[in-house]
Amino acid sequence: MQKVDVLIVGGAAVGSAAAYFLASQSDFKGSVMVLEQDFSYEKCATALSAASIRHQFSTPQNIQLSQFGSQFLKHIGDYLAVDGDVPDVGFHEDGYLFLATEAGREVLQSNHRIQKAQNVDVALLTPEELRTRYPWMQVDDLVAGSLGLSGEGWMDAYGLMRGLRRKAMALGAQYKEARVTALQREGHRIVAATLSDGSSVACGTVINTAGTGAAALARSAGIALPVEARKRSVFYFTTSAQLDNCPMVIDPSGAYFRPEGKGFICGVAPAPEDDPECYDFDVQHTLFDEVLWPTLAARAPALEALRVQRSWAGHYDMNTLDHNVILGAHPEVDNLLFANGFSGHGMQQSPAVGRALSELVTYGGYRTLDLQAFGWERVLKNQPLYEINVV
Ligand SMILES: Cc1cc2nc3c(=O)[nH]c(=O)nc-3n(C[C@H](O)[C@H](O)[C@H](O)COP(=O)(O)OP(=O)(O)OC[C@H]3O[C@@H](n4cnc5c(N)ncnc54)[C@H](O)[C@@H]3O)c2cc1C
Repeated sequence: MQKVDVLIVGGAAVGSAAAYFLASQSDFKGSVMVLEQDFSYEKCATALSAASIRHQFSTPQNIQLSQFGSQFLKHIGDYLAVDGDVPDVGFHEDGYLFLATEAGREVLQSNHRIQKAQNVDVALLTPEELRTRYPWMQVDDLVAGSLGLSGEGWMDAYGLMRGLRRKAMALGAQYKEARVTALQREGHRIVAATLSDGSSVACGTVINTAGTGAAALARSAGIALPVEARKRSVFYFTTSAQLDNCPMVIDPSGAYFRPEGKGFICGVAPAPEDDPECYDFDVQHTLFDEVLWPTLAARAPALEALRVQRSWAGHYDMNTLDHNVILGAHPEVDNLLFANGFSGHGMQQSPAVGRALSELVTYGGYRTLDLQAFGWERVLKNQPLYEINVV
C-alpha cells in the first residue's frame, strides 16, 4: 500500500493552499499527496465562486484571514511564481460597500468598531457622501454605507486555485485524480483512505478539504460535521448604463452586485425556507426576476435596462451552526484536520487557512494567526461563533 505523510482530500482552493504552504514550509520534511475526484474542477465551489474578498466581517479572526488573503493576492508573484512565471489572479482592489437603512444602522456601526480595532481601512459614508461618490445610486432610503478603501475587491478564483496547485506541484506535492470513499479509522487515528477503485493510501495526517463532500468523508470516520450544501445562483448581465467606480455593493436586502469584465454579476441568498440542503445545479431564475432585478433597479435606476447573458449555480459548504469555518482536529481523532464550512467566504480565506493547516501539521499549533476560536470545541459545546456579515 502506498504511504504518504500528509494526505489532502479535495484539491481545489483550500486543499491546494494547504498543499502549497506545506510544500513551501522549510520545517516540514514529509511527503504531500492531494486526492481530487475531478481534475476538471467544474462543479467545485472554487470554480463557481463570486470570488470576492472583504475585510468587513464581524468576527476579528475572519478579518485577519482576509487581510492575509489580500496581502497574498497583492504579492502573488512572491508566493506562486514558477520559473519566473507569475499566475494571473485578476485582483481588482475596488472595495466592498455595505449599505444600511435605519434598521441596519446599529449593526453597521458595531461592525465598524470591530473592523477599526483590526486596522481595517474602512469608512462610514453618509447618504450625501454616497450620492457624491456614486451619482448613479438611489440613496433616499439609506442612513449610511461602509466602504472598504483598500484590500477589498475580487479576484479570479480559478486562476488562484490553478496558481496554488501549480506551485504546490512544482515544490513536490503529488496530485492524483481519485475519489476517496472512506477514511479508515483505528481508535484515535486515521490509518488510510479508501479510493473508489478499491485501493488504499496509508497516511500520517489527513486534511479534509472536500468542500461539500466533507461531511460524508467525516461520517465515514464516525464524525458528525455540521456542514451542508446550499445552492447559490449567480447572474452575469450587461448594460449600457455607466456605474462609475462601482464597488461590490451589498444592498440592505442582502442582494449584491459588482462589475465583472464588460458587465456585472449579481446574486442573493434564497429565503431561509427556500434554502434546503441541495446538490443540484439548476439556476434559480425566479430569484433574478422576482428579487434581484427589482432590487438592482431600485438601487441603481439605470439598471432597469440590462440583459442577463449567463447564469450558474454553485454550492456553499454551509456550516449550519454558525457560518464559520471549522478548522483543525476533532478531539476524538488526532491526525484528521478539518477546513470546512466556509459558508461563502472560503475563497478569500484560502491562503490564510492553507497556511494555518501547514502550521498545525508542522508544529501542532498555530504560529501566525491564532485561529483556535474556529476549532471543534465550539461545535461540540454548541457555542456558536456567529458571523453576522454573511453575504
Ligand atoms: C456561488 C458562490 C459564490 C461564492 N462567493 C464567494 C466570494 O465572493 N468570496 C469568497 O471568499 N468565497 C465565495 N464562495 C465560497 C468559496 O468559493 C468557497 O468557500 C471555496 O471555494 C471553498 O474551497 P474549497 O477548496 O474548500 O472547496 P471546493 O472548491 O468545493 O473544493 C472541494 C474539492 O473537493 C473535491 N472532493 C470532494 N469530495 C471528495 C472526495 N470524497 N474525494 C476526492 N475529492 C473530493 C471536490 O471535487 C472539489 O474539487 C462562493 C461560493 C459559491 C458557490
